[in-house]
Amino acid sequence: MGLTTDVKGRKVIVVEDIVDTGTTIVALKKFLQEQGASDIRICTMLLKPASYKGDVKLDYVAMEIPNDFIVGFGLDYDNLGRSYKDIYVLDTDSDGTPDTIINIPEKHMKYFILFGPPGAGKGTQATAMVENFHLCQLSTGDLLRKEMAAGSELGLKAKALINAGELVPDEIVEGMIEKQFDTVKGVEGFLLDGFPRTIAQAEALNAILAKKGEEVTSVVSLMIPDEMIKERIAHRAAIEGRADDANEEVIANRIRTYHDKTEPLVAFYKGAGKYNEIDGTGTIEEVRGRIADLMSKY
Ligand code: AMP
Repeated sequence: MGLTTDVKGRKVIVVEDIVDTGTTIVALKKFLQEQGASDIRICTMLLKPASYKGDVKLDYVAMEIPNDFIVGFGLDYDNLGRSYKDIYVLDTDSDGTPDTIINIPEKHMKYFILFGPPGAGKGTQATAMVENFHLCQLSTGDLLRKEMAAGSELGLKAKALINAGELVPDEIVEGMIEKQFDTVKGVEGFLLDGFPRTIAQAEALNAILAKKGEEVTSVVSLMIPDEMIKERIAHRAAIEGRADDANEEVIANRIRTYHDKTEPLVAFYKGAGKYNEIDGTGTIEEVRGRIADLMSKY
């Protein structure tokens, strides 16, 4: 280990590609301390928590990875895998010695958007689809109603807007969705129901997914005429007792809000080549069949 510059009294930031057992980083920190560095911060692109035994605090970790030895550009193991562009694991032979390299195919999650006016049957259909396709249903309306029932600050903020048939602020629902993406595990993807509802939300969704190297898989749009919206909402009001389903003025405002703020998403997703429209009229089973046929193509 040698230095080409004097670090005495200086702040040093160590930028590591990968921290494995931590031997290098512990020795490096000790060395820099001995050279008189006043403040040493460690950041690493990759960390294997199951393998790290060092007592040195890592100030920034970009990504934690499983313990299989990974190799990539400039990272190798015993001359296996130098300068590979992708991420690999080492395959081991019968005595446990790493000998070959297996490419890990990148696994993408699916992000379906179930789109449509209020009362189109998104919630009803979503429940069946999540089972069929091993997805997690994320309904911003349900998440907001839970907050309202719990009497949280967020719920109180949302209540007046929801009960008036207005949309809640974009940042609120965007934050909720991002949190769910980060916490829900063990599914093959998500079925978004009632989100996005504005162009700003759709753009935020693209940005959230891009950060993960993901994108919207497909928009499944359930279309029904305005007259049917009113009938379906009246039917649901009798069953679920939602305050925003019970008042004609509020329903009219929700339909207006849908046409003004949400319908522009049709052109947005058509432009992105993601839009698929389905006839939302007919029995629940008929519509379900149409949705399942479409989703099974992805
Ligand atoms: P829903 O259950 O999807 O019909 O949503 C009920 C109400 O929650 C809506 O009328 C809005 O007031 C609010 N809401 C749900 N999702 C969103 C969203 N993505 N953006 C803004 N407001 C929303």
